[in-house]
Amino acid sequence: MLSMKNDLRSIIDDNMEEIIRKEYCDLCEKQGVFYGKRKNFRILICKRCGLMWANPFKYFVAGKSTNFDYWGEEIYLSHADSQKKRFHKQLKTFIKKANVWDPRSLKILEVGPGLGFFLDTCEGLGIKAEGCDISERSVKYANRERERVRLGTLDGYYQYESFHAVFAFNLIEHLPYPKKFFSEAHRVLKSGGTLVLETPVQESLFHRLARIAYFFSKGRLNYLSVESVGHIYQFSKKTFKLICHDIGFNFLYQKNMNSPFGEIWSKSSLVCFDYRPLYRLSLPILWALGKLTSQGNRLFILLQKP
Ligand SMILES: [Zn+2]
Repeated sequence: MLSMKNDLRSIIDDNMEEIIRKEYCDLCEKQGVFYGKRKNFRILICKRCGLMWANPFKYFVAGKSTNFDYWGEEIYLSHADSQKKRFHKQLKTFIKKANVWDPRSLKILEVGPGLGFFLDTCEGLGIKAEGCDISERSVKYANRERERVRLGTLDGYYQYESFHAVFAFNLIEHLPYPKKFFSEAHRVLKSGGTLVLETPVQESLFHRLARIAYFFSKGRLNYLSVESVGHIYQFSKKTFKLICHDIGFNFLYQKNMNSPFGEIWSKSSLVCFDYRPLYRLSLPILWALGKLTSQGNRLFILLQKP
């Protein structure tokens, strides 16, 4: 149930975009405090769990949007090998940390598999994995050899306790109601099952420096990576530690990691940035420093259903 206070929603018919005004933290329902602003929205922060979000934000209604597409398809395709290598490493970490004795007996669901590289990696290790995604084009691509991805969202579709693990890479920061996703993931997981997440994190070298630059430039240099479309939310390490019990999970593991360099470098030529040359100049240095100091820009998290 969506019981959030003060959610003002309106539908724009032609693109099926929803504009959502959210004054309260999606996870704790505490009122958000002003953090920063852009032209058309403000950035709010929850003083309890550290979650940051854009207010208002825009969301493409799943399954109804006519112009929703898999963003950056060519970029992901040209870096398929490095993506799969990374997924292989993350899968091994999950197997170790979740004490999986026989990976081949696992049943895994990935929410938002995009082009299906993680599913390929699972299949390579003999693990049964399926997915659901809202992009028709990526579902078509992921299913080009065999049917394994359903067009649609997680919501209410799967039976209770169907999976040993639910994976979601770089998904939760895009969802209008992340708490609803956590509770659905909890519902479809078996007891002892693991929710595996990856998301950009505030406690990273890049995002720390971005916040310093934002305040010293009085908002002129804005690389806060919270947007009214796309990355609506930015999570903190504190968020997961604090809310995991509220959402019915035990905290298992978390670690900073870097986005693959080729991927963020290619994306930096496409996304809308202020002072793009400055961003691109600092990117290789910050990427290398983030790796050296274990302060990569994303967080890899494992939560376990008791
Ligand atoms: Zn909160």
